[in-house]
Amino acid sequence: MRNFAVVGSGPAGFYTAEALAKAYGENARIDILDRYPVPYGLIRFGVAPDHQSLKAVSKRYDKVAESAGVDFIGNVTVGADISIAELLGLYDAVILATGAPHDRKLGILGEDLPGVVGSAEFVGWYNGHPDFADLDPPLDGTHAAVIGNGNVALDCARILSKTRHEFEASDIVGHALEALDQAAIRTVTILGRRGPHQIAMTPKELGELGHLEASSPVVDIADFPPVEADEALEPGQRKSITILREFAATPPDAAKPKRMVFDFFAKPLRIEGDGKADRIVVERTELDEKGAARGTGETYEVPASLVITAIGYSSSPIPDVPFEGGKFVNEQGRISDRLYAVGWARRGPTGTIGTNRPDGYEVAEQIAAAMPPGTDRDRPGAEGLKQLLQSRGIMPTDYDDWRKIEETEVANARPGSPREKFVRPHEWLSVLGR
Ligand SMILES: Cc1cc2nc3c(=O)[nH]c(=O)nc-3n(C[C@H](O)[C@H](O)[C@H](O)COP(=O)(O)OP(=O)(O)OC[C@H]3O[C@@H](n4cnc5c(N)ncnc54)[C@H](O)[C@@H]3O)c2cc1C
Repeated sequence: MRNFAVVGSGPAGFYTAEALAKAYGENARIDILDRYPVPYGLIRFGVAPDHQSLKAVSKRYDKVAESAGVDFIGNVTVGADISIAELLGLYDAVILATGAPHDRKLGILGEDLPGVVGSAEFVGWYNGHPDFADLDPPLDGTHAAVIGNGNVALDCARILSKTRHEFEASDIVGHALEALDQAAIRTVTILGRRGPHQIAMTPKELGELGHLEASSPVVDIADFPPVEADEALEPGQRKSITILREFAATPPDAAKPKRMVFDFFAKPLRIEGDGKADRIVVERTELDEKGAARGTGETYEVPASLVITAIGYSSSPIPDVPFEGGKFVNEQGRISDRLYAVGWARRGPTGTIGTNRPDGYEVAEQIAAAMPPGTDRDRPGAEGLKQLLQSRGIMPTDYDDWRKIEETEVANARPGSPREKFVRPHEWLSVLGR
């Protein structure tokens, strides 16, 4: 029997567990560890609450967790509660699937002013992440700005623009719903350093903006190259540009009180305000020969008492694991003997949920090649882990505990909403009588 520990219960962790279970069958036990008693990583804490169909991928992960030989062990923070060396003593291989939970910094003046928040914080706040439950973003001003030209920036801008009615059937947490319902924000400006052809936004997410109840997208046709240039784009990107061109050709709906303004070729220079964010000083850019943004020297101000930066993420280092450029140093997923990385912890924060699948399968293949199914090494696995944690006063949770938590969340849901998430570990744990 082989024992494997997958650290992190997001998509990458679950795809890896699934691949290992397939490769080893009855010849391995796979434990998926997570710092929280609730699984699924960014499926729970990142993917937008009004995109429920995407969150349904967790049903597939449920099946993995329920399969013989796979266990979920929550409430264990690797690197703090237990070291990597200790885990490698207990398991035949350890696979880090810890994601990339930290916001990349802009590195400009005023970034630390109150009112400037990272997208991980803002997204965590509306998605019930325990670290950000008390964020209390300022929503009392009329102008907000989101810096970044990817789907996370779109998520943030859309959530700021929706009405209470549009959140029906979502699992946005109650505190965020109430605060957003009272918000004064009328204009959300999305700033990108380059132009429409360089966006990392996908057609589905852009298309939604044309159907918001209270907000109209505003796009300037002068930002586009001649329409013939669209031919050179790959089909998905071409679709996105077509949608943006349609927005540019449609005057904002006068019956809608809010605007979502796309400000392309806009490089934030600094954030200013009297003790809190009030405006962004922006430099107009143009594309250089290599397609990078080059400042033109022309500056202007974008009013914003809430500034959300959505320019990418980095992983958390873990003591004694080589770490560089925001992720674990690895070669095709292998970090060192019996230690591997998958998902965002391996590649950095790019790609969709499905992109993490091949990662997991590739690493499982490498492990199966290094320790073929049927070969044995008597490491203690979960039993040893639980003993060690107990000796440190740490009480791990299991998959049945998660189901109890989930049942209570579903029972507490607002009418029409799939669940009302608990936002703090003590609330989860009190459901379990701990
Ligand atoms: C705001 C946002 C919205 C997104 N929306 C979409 C979308 O609509 N569609 C789409 O396809 N993709 C979307 N993505 C991308 C998708 O969420 C990622 O591709 C995916 O979640 C990455 O998986 P992962 O397993 O590597 O990391 P994660 O999902 O982050 O999982 C990491 C897990 O590791 C745990 N962990 C971390 N450190 C430790 C530790 N030290 N000890 C124990 N456990 C630990 C965490 O608690 C977490 O459960 C979105 C991403 C973000 C940020």
